[in-house]
Amino acid sequence: MAEKKHSRRDFIIKNATGGIGALLAPTLLAAGGASAAPAIAETLSSKPAILGGSPAWSESRWPKWPRWVPETDEPKVLDVLRSGVWSRAGVVTEFEKEWAGAIGTKRCLAVVNGTNALVVALSQMGVGAGDEVLVPPYTFISTVTAVLSNNAVPVFVDIDPATYQMDPAKIEAKITPRTKVILPVHIMGLPVDMKRINAIAKKHKLLVLEDACQAHFAEIDGKRVGSFGDAGCFSFQNSKNLPIGEGGAIVSNNDQLIDKCFSYTNLGNPYGTAIGSVGTGSFMQGTKLRFSEYQAAVGLAMLKRLDQETTIRNENAAYLSQLLKDIPGLVPQKTYPDATRSAFHLYAMRYNADAFRGLKRDDFLKSLRAEGVPCSSGYTRLNVQPFLAQTFGTQTYRKIYSKKELDIATYNKNNHCPENDKLCSEAVWFTQNMLLAERSDMEFIAAAIKKTYNNADQLKASLK
Ligand SMILES: *Cc1c(COP(=O)(O)O)cnc(C)c1O
Repeated sequence: MAEKKHSRRDFIIKNATGGIGALLAPTLLAAGGASAAPAIAETLSSKPAILGGSPAWSESRWPKWPRWVPETDEPKVLDVLRSGVWSRAGVVTEFEKEWAGAIGTKRCLAVVNGTNALVVALSQMGVGAGDEVLVPPYTFISTVTAVLSNNAVPVFVDIDPATYQMDPAKIEAKITPRTKVILPVHIMGLPVDMKRINAIAKKHKLLVLEDACQAHFAEIDGKRVGSFGDAGCFSFQNSKNLPIGEGGAIVSNNDQLIDKCFSYTNLGNPYGTAIGSVGTGSFMQGTKLRFSEYQAAVGLAMLKRLDQETTIRNENAAYLSQLLKDIPGLVPQKTYPDATRSAFHLYAMRYNADAFRGLKRDDFLKSLRAEGVPCSSGYTRLNVQPFLAQTFGTQTYRKIYSKKELDIATYNKNNHCPENDKLCSEAVWFTQNMLLAERSDMEFIAAAIKKTYNNADQLKASLK
């Protein structure tokens, strides 16, 4: 019976598609989850949706994000709202304890967002005027603006082309007497090579701050990222794997560092280890970036699902990668051997237009979107964006740095990142919520891509 079913499915797929459609069948069958096969065969045989055919999928069928389950998520939030205690108090402390426990660090400080978590962590690690911080170019802008907010200079370390992460092999060439912190980013939620980076930091007496804003519950050797550096930063912005709307956290095993961060984000009021070293009153210059009670209550609700959701994302990402192996010209982002779990805030891969017979990446993306598969081209080249020259032109920077140091042509030359340039021109992203769909739904992503591949010539001619 099973034998018969397999061969029938095989038959449908092979005959419906021609091209590389036939290649899909063995993978689907080997994976043993081919319930979607007849529907896929149908979609593969129709015209590309962008040219008037029926779409592979309906965009509205992907899981919505964020998720909200009134029965389980609302009681605590309502309690907080009705209590009238909305400014930082016990629920924020509870959330911080839970988050520190989950990541495996001694301490956690919740703040308004991930951007300011980075700004504050860097400032309290001592980064300021005249310092350099090593950053990767393939990241969200906040990684870099956090350095500039502290009047320091971001120095770009090009990426490892396979993993898209800051390449450890390229770090030492960028270290100068001014380097203070290495700031790697677990990009897309896949872990950085922290062991190598920590070893380099130790050798050169540098601090390490992990930007884990996309990497909730990603692991290296079973240990969660954010706990490897001197400190780690998380974001709880709406799109992130633990969404609160806005929110961020700094985690660390260093009491003094977190206490200083606490004081800084609470108007300079002494906290923890700082109490006793001073009398009353603010002992340091500070600002106010406090988290609020109802945000923490939302966070606690989201935290209950994070582990299970992370497992589902990993399983679906692995299945999708397996399906994409059959399609020439697509290479998913890789992890280092010691990465035991990823967060998959995004699923990223490289698109090789030549393998798609010259179909441009933008047209590939348009076709996928028309098939009901949302996607994007991802980051643009951060290391050449105008905000850098703008900052270097400010009075503050001109007071701190020499004309030569602020010469943007020289800066761009020293911060040239050819591997990143290439990735920015080739990347294709899917968002994390898509990986929360059914396992068989991954087959529709592969089918949309396959259909685009099979019709690449016609698409190229029509989408001029
Ligand atoms: C989202 C993000 C941030 C900033 O977090 P916000 O909470 O949005 O301020 C920083 N770094 C990376 C890599 C991010 O993805």
